[in-house]
Amino acid sequence: MADGHDCDVLIIGGGPVGIALALMLGRKGVRVIVTEKATEIYPLPRAAHVDHEIMRLFQSLGLADEIMATSRVSTRYDFLSASGEVLMRFEFGDGSSPSGWPASNMIHQPSLEASLRKALAGCDMAALKSGWTLEDFTEESDSVEGRFSTSDGEKICRAKYLIGCDGARSTVRTLAQIGVHDLEFDEPWLVVDTIVHDASRLPSVNLQICDPARPTTCVLMGNGRHRWEFMLKPGEQAETVATESFVAELLRPWNVVGAVSIERMAVYRFHALIARHWRKGRILLAGDAAHQMPPFAGQGLCSGLRDAANIARKLSAILPHQAMDALLDTYQPEREPNVRGIINLALMMGRTVCILDPVSAKQRDQMMLAARRSGSGPPPAPEYPPIDDGFILKGTAAAGTYFPQPSARDDGAVMRLDDVMGDGAWLIMRDDGVCSTDVGLRVISLNDENLRPYQRDLAHWLDRHNAASVLVRPDRYIFGTGAGADLANAWSGPDSAFR
Ligand SMILES: Cc1cc2nc3c(=O)[nH]c(=O)nc-3n(C[C@H](O)[C@H](O)[C@H](O)COP(=O)(O)OP(=O)(O)OC[C@H]3O[C@@H](n4cnc5c(N)ncnc54)[C@H](O)[C@@H]3O)c2cc1C
Repeated sequence: MADGHDCDVLIIGGGPVGIALALMLGRKGVRVIVTEKATEIYPLPRAAHVDHEIMRLFQSLGLADEIMATSRVSTRYDFLSASGEVLMRFEFGDGSSPSGWPASNMIHQPSLEASLRKALAGCDMAALKSGWTLEDFTEESDSVEGRFSTSDGEKICRAKYLIGCDGARSTVRTLAQIGVHDLEFDEPWLVVDTIVHDASRLPSVNLQICDPARPTTCVLMGNGRHRWEFMLKPGEQAETVATESFVAELLRPWNVVGAVSIERMAVYRFHALIARHWRKGRILLAGDAAHQMPPFAGQGLCSGLRDAANIARKLSAILPHQAMDALLDTYQPEREPNVRGIINLALMMGRTVCILDPVSAKQRDQMMLAARRSGSGPPPAPEYPPIDDGFILKGTAAAGTYFPQPSARDDGAVMRLDDVMGDGAWLIMRDDGVCSTDVGLRVISLNDENLRPYQRDLAHWLDRHNAASVLVRPDRYIFGTGAGADLANAWSGPDSAFR
């Protein structure tokens, strides 16, 4: 680049979060290089679930239909006692959700990563350097320089920002000397993924078996696959449990001989950690580098992708449009409370399941059965905490909450609002008011012909919040509600962080 940088943004780690972030930035005209130490996509599945917000995010990348084609919708998630009583139930019903996509989607992570990489290969602004391992970096006033080892020797790459999407053992986090808050969960589980030959012999909903003799998870995955996870008991070692004979014994009660064959087995330690700083100068952390959680809520990857959407929105405003770099300071305050809320949900689930003492398990069962009988169970479906600090117009109705996506049918085909409105921020106004703005804000009246199929839903939403207009951020969280001109001014006027 003419300004002495090799790219605007250097992403370390070509896992799902790094690649998705590169794609979001590249499509917005930001020059990105992603470096990945491995030469191929990590072949073993980890994430099995993504939520509806993530499907909407894939929709914005043009990938939702491709990903849905290899996924299955989950309708229910049950926590059962050893004797099969329902201790806790999350119902996803017909799968509808605020985002217009099914609430709970079971996926195959390597297939999802392949879709992301294929899309990245078609993006002129982004390049993936496989086989590049970050060894060190130095930060200067206007740049960061990464030093890499590769099979062709040492490489140097200079960028305006460096983002660590390099997973749980993040080199970037270590080099930046960023510590972590340990939320004190550390349990070893054996994960067994299978190829399905006869789905009729398998459970059709997701299950946690809260059996103190062997806490067990049994979940759907993408088409043609099913997963079991077994908690290790004290004294059990990875080498002895991750064997065909041991797993055959664990699967015996499920009576699935001939219905599935084992694709892989591996022991993971489930942790809950949060990095103390998600931004330090020109360095940012996202995904597992910034936070880790046990997989009981199926939210580690989902949270990382929400980080990516948040950063992409900010960097794509800063780099081409010269918005203030301070906008990046809103990243952690906006994201960390959401992640903490989700980690708390995952820990609540994990602490419910991971009880090995039969007396404590019996007490838990009695308490949860009583709570269910009295109707005071968990919410019907997990809710994700809204943004309450950051780049939002605090004090206006619904600021920081998630903006729904209405859909309509045309000749049987589903037409969703985002496809009509496009990327970027929107100012939707009840009337045909005039508003001038110059920072990529799409201003539209409810009377606009394009909004006709969604007019009733959108008018209902504005009525419910007693609002004349709503300004929706590109990550589909609400900046604020109120008079259109006031919103536009707060978004891009002289005092806005966009200046
Ligand atoms: C058993 C299990 C089940 C799970 N289930 C779910 C689920 O259902 N839903 C969900 O949302 N999440 C789930 N997760 C979590 C999810 O898999 C992770 O949150 C997600 O993979 C994190 O993505 P990432 O891109 O941040 O990190 P990673 O996928 O770990 O990618 C990091 C990348 O950085 C590369 N890298 C590391 N160091 C360097 C370096 N120095 N230089 C260059 N490259 C480097 C690595 O090779 C790797 O490719 C589960 C996890 C496990 C273990």
